[in-house]
This record gives sequence, C-alpha cells and structure tokens, in this order.
Amino acid sequence: MDRSVILIKNGHVIDPVSGLDGIRDVLVSDGKIAKIAEKIDEKSLAEGTEVIDAGEKIVAPGFVDVHVHFRDPGFTEKEDIYTGAKAAAKGGFTSVVMMANTKPTIDNVDTLKYVLDKGAETGINVYACANVTMGMKGETLTDMDSLKAAGAVGFTDDGIPLVREDIVLKAMEKSKELDLPLSFHEEDPSVIENNGINRGKASEHFGIGGSPRQAEINMISRDIELAKKTGAVIDIQHISTKEGVELVRQAKAAGVNIHAEATPHHFSLTEEAAIEHGTMAKMNPPLREEADRQAVAEGLADGTIDMIATDHAPHTAEEKARELTKAPSGIIGLETALPLAVMNLLDTGKMRIRSLMASMSTNAARLYKLDAGYIAEGGPADIVIFDTDSKYVYRKEDIASKASNTPFIGCELKGKVHYTICKGRIVYKA
Ligand SMILES: [Zn+2]
Repeated sequence: MDRSVILIKNGHVIDPVSGLDGIRDVLVSDGKIAKIAEKIDEKSLAEGTEVIDAGEKIVAPGFVDVHVHFRDPGFTEKEDIYTGAKAAAKGGFTSVVMMANTKPTIDNVDTLKYVLDKGAETGINVYACANVTMGMKGETLTDMDSLKAAGAVGFTDDGIPLVREDIVLKAMEKSKELDLPLSFHEEDPSVIENNGINRGKASEHFGIGGSPRQAEINMISRDIELAKKTGAVIDIQHISTKEGVELVRQAKAAGVNIHAEATPHHFSLTEEAAIEHGTMAKMNPPLREEADRQAVAEGLADGTIDMIATDHAPHTAEEKARELTKAPSGIIGLETALPLAVMNLLDTGKMRIRSLMASMSTNAARLYKLDAGYIAEGGPADIVIFDTDSKYVYRKEDIASKASNTPFIGCELKGKVHYTICKGRIVYKA
C-alpha cells in the first residue's frame, strides 16, 4: 500500500496558500510533492508507481488538528497514540497536536519525549503542547525553555482552566519571549455548578445547576486584557458562546494577537443534543443554544475563529455509562470532523471550500509553526482526498478510535475521506 511514488490524477486540487483551485495531477515522491501539473504522463514514471484516480474528488492539504487528547501515557484504556493516530488518518488528518493532560502530565521533558517518540512511529505527524503549570495545578510555571527545546509546539493546561491571573500573566510573558502560542480552556470554575451541561434548558431538564455562558465570557475577557498587556500569541480553545465569539472579534479588530478554535460539535449541535443523548453529548464547554451555534459558524465564516479543532476526547463505555454528573466530559471527533463541516458549513452556504480547507489545515499550521497546510512543489506530501457528496450511516463498527463516545452514531453523514497520504505514504484508504 505504501509505495514511495504516487500519482494522483484529475483531482480538484485546492491549496489555500497559493489559491490554486482547479483540476491537476499531483506527483508524490520521497515524501514530498514532486510536481503539480495539468497533465502528468504516467508512462513517463517508474514502474511500480501507484496511480490514484481522484476524478471528481477534492485533493487538499492534510487536515491539521491542534487539539486532540490521545490519553497516552496514563489513560490508554481510553485511547493510545497509535489508535488516536489511526482515527486521525481515517478522518483525513495528517498532523495533530496532543494536549498535555496525560498521566503524568506533559509538564516535563521525559513525558514530552515519550509522546513525540511514540508519535513518530504512527505514520502521521504527532506534535504536542506542554503544560503551562506543573501538574496542571495552576501554581508554578513549567520549565518552558527546555520544553520548547525538546519540541513542544505550544503551551496549555487544557482540561483545567488557569484561575490565577498572576500565573497567566507570567505564562504570557514567557511564551511571548519563546514565540510560541498559549492555548486556553476558558471556563471560570467559580460560576459553574456542574461541568458539561449548559445552564438553561438542558440543566433545567436534568434538574442540575450546569455551566453558565458567563464562565466562558469571564475568562476570555480576562485573557484578552492580559494579551493586550503582554503581546502574547493566544489561542482560545473550543469557543462555545456568541459573546465569546464577539469578544474575540473585537479583540482581533483592536490588534490583539488572538486566535480561536471551534469544535465540529459546537457548530453542529445545541443543548438539545445533551437532553437527547445525555453523557454522550456532555462536554466542556457544553453545547449551548442555537444562537451560539450560529455565532460559532459565523465566526468561522468571517475569520474570527481561525481553526476547526476537534477536541477529540475519548472515554470508555463504562465511564460514559455513569450518571450524568459523574461521567467525564468530552466526545471523540476526528472521524466526523469533515462530514460535520460539509453538512453544517458548506452545504448551508456559510463557508466556501477554500476557506473551509484553510480553517482545517493552513491556519492551524501557521499558528503552531508546522510545515503543513499547503500543497506546493517541494512541500510535504501530506494530502487528503475526499468527496463532499457521499452519504452513509456512521456506524460504531467503523470507528478507528479505541473509544466510541459520540452522539453521532446512527446518524447519516455526508462527505467522505477516500485517501489520507502523510509524508508521501498512504496512511488511510477507504
Ligand atoms: Zn478544553
């Protein structure tokens, strides 16, 4: 399956960087894109060249997800780096950035090295953020210099909000000096009664306090002020409220170096899904209201939100079978990201394919300084080949992830990955 020379014929090639948007042949050799032309004669190529007919399909930069939880080390009953990478490849992703809430957490160089070394065996590009604070306790900064030197592409305590303002300020000053992004899980715990369920219709349905939108507004507001002061590059993770989107929009307009991620579930679902699916639609921050869902889509469309990032968060069936307030938050997302984007952003006319591709690869690669997110001669042969028309029912037995905690099982999806090529090798074939 993995030959070193691959000719992709007749694909609709989309490159958000150069603006290329047309039918081309693409030749892959030795891990790089060797040639892009209107016609490449296969007879001129060496014997054994793999030829992929991509007629009527889109050929785009492999997707880049800057927010995945691969649970390794420490929670490999949920997922490990190998199965996480398989799920990524199946979803069209060729580069992922692991979050650092493993056990031990990635607050030290040894754990970071373990993650990166194991990731290097997977066939896709596995990167990692390191922690902002030791043990994610929010009190003492990690040795950010040596973590950067060991390969961290950013810093985050994702999973646990950073409560102490003085710590955030110091972290911003340091990350600014290191020129790496700092990404934030923005939920103020002081106003949350129960994680993962929106305060409003859903929390009332379950008779619990839930998590109010104010939790997100409080922390985004604070971090915008701190970013203004420090000039740090910040990334607001999994934005969920219309107010949050508007705060980011205004901060960008004011020149703050702020970026934002949206998950597929936040532009696809509302708190109605939590009412219907219970723990399978419990996540932090929670699914909100229709106006919020629309605002997230609008934010992606106008560039306020730079990136689609899945927050792929595997958990075991046993954990998700617990009662609502005791079950962990999060759903898997790598294998449904493309179809959800097709159905909720493309088919609704909110986004065009080229800007959608930028939000699924180019923008994330730029922010995290990854050599990815473009299709050009001499560039990396990280490519996804997909269509936006195939309809199929998403079945549990088709999931490549070790986990299956998702409310989308049994749903009809539209848009399908046919091939994922990473570093010049086919890492997924439908
Ligand atoms: Zn988070």
